[in-house]
Amino acid sequence: MLQLRCSAQNYDWGRQADNSEVAKLARANGSSIDESKPFAELWMGAHPNCPSKVKSTGESLQACLDKHPQLLGSTVQKHFGNQLPFLFKVLSVAKALSIQSHPDKQLAQRLHREHPKLYADPNHKPEMALALSDFEALCGFASTAELQERLRRVPELAALVGAERVAAIMALGTAPAAGEEEEKQAKQALKAAFTALMTSDQAAVTAAVRSLVTRLSAAAASSSGEGLTEHEALALRLNQQFPDDVGLMSAFFLNLVRLPPGSAIYLAANEPHAYLSGELVELMAASDNVIRAGLTPKFKHADVLCESLTYRQGLPEVLIGSPAVPGITVYQPPFEEFEIHRLECDSSETGSDYGSANSSPSAVAASAAASDAFQDQPRMTLPASEGPRILLVQSGQVEAEVLGHLPAELETVPELERGAVLGRGSIVLIPAGVELALRRAEGLVGWIAAVNATCFRLQDARQTAAPAVAAGKAARRAAEEEVPAAPALAVAAL
Ligand SMILES: [Zn+2]
Repeated sequence: MLQLRCSAQNYDWGRQADNSEVAKLARANGSSIDESKPFAELWMGAHPNCPSKVKSTGESLQACLDKHPQLLGSTVQKHFGNQLPFLFKVLSVAKALSIQSHPDKQLAQRLHREHPKLYADPNHKPEMALALSDFEALCGFASTAELQERLRRVPELAALVGAERVAAIMALGTAPAAGEEEEKQAKQALKAAFTALMTSDQAAVTAAVRSLVTRLSAAAASSSGEGLTEHEALALRLNQQFPDDVGLMSAFFLNLVRLPPGSAIYLAANEPHAYLSGELVELMAASDNVIRAGLTPKFKHADVLCESLTYRQGLPEVLIGSPAVPGITVYQPPFEEFEIHRLECDSSETGSDYGSANSSPSAVAASAAASDAFQDQPRMTLPASEGPRILLVQSGQVEAEVLGHLPAELETVPELERGAVLGRGSIVLIPAGVELALRRAEGLVGWIAAVNATCFRLQDARQTAAPAVAAGKAARRAAEEEVPAAPALAVAAL
């Protein structure tokens, strides 16, 4: 394994160091912390905007991968080149992130070509956010019935959207769209309304926001007044963070989602969202492309955002994870680049062995031998994966050791460590094909970024398919459809 040094980003929406999991983990990982700055993101990966380094050599992770691409495994090399397919982060959110979306591959390529300073890479950026604390986010468009109700209740919003476009929303049916034509009509009305709002001139936005804030503040203060809705209370909160910003108006168009720790949402390309508060782990394709349209001092690209959104309505699917082997819970979104594993090794878990069907017979034999030697110690086996993984230890301590022999192609990588004591803040790259024994684990909780298992099944499907391109495409489609539905629970609309 390779121990990594990872750096934090001090964006202004982050939390003060003493209240930030990002700052605490970064310090435990070996960074010096400037207490005067807000701590927003800890980056674990090889993206050039904040690359992780190999702890033992100080070399960048990407330089190490370029020298030893076998760390990634053959499937990942074929599919993603010498790149780690994902970028792993921890986020500490004190105030709202920008209203944003992430481009699909085609749009990312165009934006990177036309605005290389704003869009640093040509990759798409599907992402997944997993709550470490109570977590709040705006995510996806609200239903037509909810939009109609909000446009009725909030005349300041309706004024910015414009009478004609409000009328088009009001004319929509609230039952699920009966056919393609009806769905197209709903998307058109939503796009026109949202675009009008997001591209309103700032003087009109300022006037509307101030009038809304005055009215809502009076209603909140008045004991006889009716209570504010969740979205109205949010609008007041957002105005304190970003006064006069169109983003607080756009929140009325979106779902407000609250997640308890241990649950996750995922976001495909071209879906609007904004994280509002909480601590989370985030995993995404290896990209830093963000199209922003509000709640930010950074450059707003509202016309690009409005043009590219899917205008899909409804609540996001919430993943609660499914047990894979004892001690490991898998959160699998429908993206081939990544999935998250939660690793938990309870000190009461002694004597059991977690070798799985993925392990080779020799590895299972080796782990059985290891079991005998450490009969009384809490331990588990982290089975080998066909792709690279990054493990972040959030709490507890563990002795990690490569189980059995290293795959032959890794014998030539001098930086690799065979064993290490890992504690809070340890971050390690586990190369493809490496199985780990975890011993003397006390209260271990870790998060693992892994390549989505369907990526490897996809590769199998490609290999068995006829070489013709059409057949390959069909196999890919079939494999994509095979992505198992992860357990989901409905989010209550707020
Ligand atoms: Zn995002």
